Amino acid sequence: MTTPRRITPTNPPSPEYAFGYRHQPRSGNEINGLGEPDYRQPEHVFHNAGTEPIEWQALDDFFGNISPWPILRHVVANAWQLRNKDGRTARHRVTFDDEQSAAAEMKERARTLGAELVGITHVTDESLFAGHSVPYTHAISLGLSMDREEMAHVPQQRAAVEVLRVYRAISRTAIRLARQIRSLGWPARAYGNPNSTDVLHIPLAVSAGLGQLGKHGSVISKEFGSNVRLAAVLTTLPMATDQPVDIGVEDLCRKCRRCVVDCPPGAIFDEKQLVRGAEKWYVDFDKCIPYFVKTDGCAICIQVCPWSVPGRGPSLSDQLLAKRNS
Ligand code: SF4
Ligand code: SF4
Repeated sequence: MTTPRRITPTNPPSPEYAFGYRHQPRSGNEINGLGEPDYRQPEHVFHNAGTEPIEWQALDDFFGNISPWPILRHVVANAWQLRNKDGRTARHRVTFDDEQSAAAEMKERARTLGAELVGITHVTDESLFAGHSVPYTHAISLGLSMDREEMAHVPQQRAAVEVLRVYRAISRTAIRLARQIRSLGWPARAYGNPNSTDVLHIPLAVSAGLGQLGKHGSVISKEFGSNVRLAAVLTTLPMATDQPVDIGVEDLCRKCRRCVVDCPPGAIFDEKQLVRGAEKWYVDFDKCIPYFVKTDGCAICIQVCPWSVPGRGPSLSDQLLAKRNS
């Protein structure tokens, strides 16, 4: 991989996504491994916490530079609070009767701290970026829903403010939960969003049973559809893990085309794609991200998804599973 030159774009981007690059960056789809038959870990393309150079750095910088203060204030506050993502672990270690009771207590604590969705899974290579390793065995995946009325304003600034507000809130939950776990004598670190570092939140959330991957490339939960944002706590505390869920997402995505039709740059594939050795729903990065940047984070696809209608998920799931079984 060529090392991208870090430059600060000063001009508005052209429609063809020059975005201040002196040289066209590598395709995001190529970096993501679209069409690759063999398994490998994913690499960063866009949005990381500045820990290493990324191919689309100039576009990421441009996104930050054009973000208005109502959005930026949540980004800055989130980055500031995440300085406390890790810390000292208490010397005295509290033990639990068994892994089930440890899991139940951590879930209860996470909900008390504000999470609406909680699941536990093992940390595996699939949920870590290439070249990253962590000294943790378990992940507590956390989800928080967004205000549907605010999100009805996608792809305008008002919806983006809500997205960043919720990222900030669920990061705060993760930071506090990690601190509580460390106070029990177990190492733990909070991982916030949207700027990723070591972990991929979607594979963690799917594996922890928060929801299933939809055609639009986001997690769909039974409770809130895709109208959620994620964070996680990684720890060495042994806990019983959850299983991936089947709420019928595959059944609907195979027939529904709503997100495909409504995506302005036509970035959503109608069929699963081969990505790093696995067939999965996939979004064309080279089409999505430039539009995403120009529209304060877009998010049209997750709002038009029928699962995101408040209160609809449980009955939709029941109908889909009953139809499949009949
Ligand atoms: S975020 Fe917007 S551009 Fe990207 S896939 Fe969704 S609808 Fe399309
Ligand atoms: S809009 Fe339809 S096809 Fe797209 S993710 Fe939602 S259910 Fe699946």
